Amino acid sequence: MSDKLGRNDLCWCGSGRKYKKCHALIDEQTETYRLKGYEVPHRKLLKTKQQIEGIRESSKLNIAVLDFIGEYVTDGVTTEELDRLIFEKTKELGGVPADLNYEGYPKSVCISIDDVVCHGIPSDRVFIRNGTIVNIDVSTIYNGFFSDSSRMFCVGDVPSEKRRLVDVAKECVGLGIEQVKPWGFLGDIGQAVNDHATNNGYSVVREIGGHGVGLEFHEEPWVGYVTKKGTGMLLVPGLVFTIEPMINMGKPNIKTDKSDHWTVRTVDGKPSAQWENTVLVTETGHEVLTY
Ligand SMILES: [Zn+2]
Repeated sequence: MSDKLGRNDLCWCGSGRKYKKCHALIDEQTETYRLKGYEVPHRKLLKTKQQIEGIRESSKLNIAVLDFIGEYVTDGVTTEELDRLIFEKTKELGGVPADLNYEGYPKSVCISIDDVVCHGIPSDRVFIRNGTIVNIDVSTIYNGFFSDSSRMFCVGDVPSEKRRLVDVAKECVGLGIEQVKPWGFLGDIGQAVNDHATNNGYSVVREIGGHGVGLEFHEEPWVGYVTKKGTGMLLVPGLVFTIEPMINMGKPNIKTDKSDHWTVRTVDGKPSAQWENTVLVTETGHEVLTY
């Protein structure tokens, strides 16, 4: 398509600017990488200004819900109650939980405690307990735009070794984000995350990764954390994706619960920690949209 577009035509992104003043340089640069054999993003993955604004607004709501729920993550509360609070807060702010009914998922949020790696389903039989580490993964639809982020909560007296896991997992995300810049690669992020986790004696879950987000809940690219620097999809301005490595205290192996088909646990029963941010590749670096 880009080949047919004249330099004085309006840009494909809908900015209203001439192509030569808008995406022409980015497209040319991308094409040089594609010709060298690198994986480059399809144009439909590059968000326009209006789309970015929509995702940014959705992200603000997602952040507000995570800010709100923090004080309720305490000893004795059920994950069902946290789910209800998150559902109501999201509605109050004008959004819809993206998790709800997503591929049959029954609740508004994923809450994953200790050895649950991700996709823990809220239940009135699951209690938050003193000494546990809890991941709350919130995803929101607002005006048709999707946002996604998660945080860890340490409940009461958490043993120092578990606190350290939580801290290092957060550092991993920060180091991954530092790698996000135009004309870098997804693999740069994976390498930075993986190096920091393994240097601290931890392992990184291989099978589950981050994802593009914005117009859909889950878009291309898939973002893994066992990838090598200089490999994987080229980072081009306008790409939006999550960085959400799952860091295990023990072995990287995971298993999915056979009865509910969602809950993912570590095989060795040791704890796992995860933080998730959504980032936008900008023309000069990156912008963190959710945290
Ligand atoms: Zn453009």
